[in-house]
Amino acid sequence: CGVFGIWGHEKAAELTYYGLHSMQHRGQEGAGVVVSDGEELKGHKGLGLVNDVFKSAKFDQLQGPVAIGHVRYSTQGEKAAENVQPLLFRAQTGSMALAHNGNIMNAFKLRGQLEEQGSILQTTSDTEVLAHLIKRDGNSVSEGTIGHALNQMVGAYSYIILTEEKMYAALDPSGIRPLSIGMIGDAYVVASETCAFDQIGATFIRDVLPGELITIDDNGLRSTHFAEQKQRKLCAMEYVYLSRPDSNINYVNVHASRKQMGKVLANEAPADADIVIGVPDSSISAAIGFAEESGLPYEMGILKNRYVGRTFIQPSQELREQGVKMKLSPVRGIIEGKRVIMIDDSIVRGTTCKRIVKMLKAAGAKEVHVRIASPAIQNPCYYGIDMSTREELIAANHTIEEIAEIIGGDSLAYLTEEGLEKAVLADDSFNQGMCTACMTGKYPVKEEEKEISYTSY
Ligand code: 5GP
Ligand code: SF4
Ligand code: MG
Repeated sequence: CGVFGIWGHEKAAELTYYGLHSMQHRGQEGAGVVVSDGEELKGHKGLGLVNDVFKSAKFDQLQGPVAIGHVRYSTQGEKAAENVQPLLFRAQTGSMALAHNGNIMNAFKLRGQLEEQGSILQTTSDTEVLAHLIKRDGNSVSEGTIGHALNQMVGAYSYIILTEEKMYAALDPSGIRPLSIGMIGDAYVVASETCAFDQIGATFIRDVLPGELITIDDNGLRSTHFAEQKQRKLCAMEYVYLSRPDSNINYVNVHASRKQMGKVLANEAPADADIVIGVPDSSISAAIGFAEESGLPYEMGILKNRYVGRTFIQPSQELREQGVKMKLSPVRGIIEGKRVIMIDDSIVRGTTCKRIVKMLKAAGAKEVHVRIASPAIQNPCYYGIDMSTREELIAANHTIEEIAEIIGGDSLAYLTEEGLEKAVLADDSFNQGMCTACMTGKYPVKEEEKEISYTSY
């Protein structure tokens, strides 16, 4: 998911629309905005792409200098309209709107406790749980009550919370999800990715720190800490796949990091070939790096049809496979008779690679050497990225040789864990750590109470 917030700009709702549009890649299931004029919060949201949802928005009815917004990424099922964010709650003492990116691992348990105490929840979204925790016992929304509520939640999160008086932004104690602060004129902006700042002409100020709670109001920005800051464990998949290449995540440019992954991979797993190609869009940067490092020409071997959505988001395997077929076509004139190194950013189920290898061979490729610019994904993600279940993860159930066989490549190699860290991290300092749990099984946050043993997988 992607979150966005802006405080103190006369075109708050419109800038939120532009900001969300630039973060569309972070979620295509639904989008929404809540705007405040200091007296009332008003929302507009719906299922679908940002453009579709905002087509029916009446900006003259969304007036006010403050707004927050959200793009929703579909995790398992739950494509329900009521789960589209921001969630907006009204009370006699004031309203509250929330937007969330991440996943709360103990949400089910917290929800059960709330229900025992008489709460009735409207959605299946974790975010509603936080709203109830904040307002429990008749509390008003404040740094104290938000911090207290967040400390009961285990998982990965970036939150933006809006009341008539203030906007809050919070990041989980390990900083697993990205969240940055910018300014446009005198207005403060908060967003999951810095590409949203570039989109609206805002300047990047800094990243929100792990365990930090930012409060923004007409007096400016204030920083407090609701939890002890742990070592940063930024989601490695943000670099590998999720984020836009023009974003800087935790001060590292995404395109540059991907290019570096390609370079490191070229050294770790070279192949005799004529050309290097990437699977558009997310593998292009790594393919450029691989080609540059290996001295082979980088070619446009696969073309992407822009009018098909992300294949990963499709709910069934059949639709997903059909999606890949519609989305990507080989450039026969480039591929025919060549020994091809094909770079993809990652393999999850193996759907994409399998289809593309087949496609390239059908287009006359003599050999296809598959190189993956991230380590094998062998473990599920509990922090808000839909890697699906262990059963579906091809690398959880097969050796590299078996995977090569299944996808039909002449050879297959993945980037190593060390290679990934070398590519992304300038140093291994406290603030530069990464979560690599889906690849390495090293989970930075555990949920003991649920009695899930993450290490025994
Ligand atoms: P697969 O086809 O192996 O199931 O998924 C891997 C492909 O899906 C890659 O080409 C990657 O670019 C794309 N992809 C889409 N969404 C995601 C995601 O959330 N995580 C990962 N790792 N890859 C994704
Ligand atoms: Fe990101 Fe993987 Fe960690 Fe999930 S487990 S937060 S996808 S690195
Ligand atoms: Mg891809």
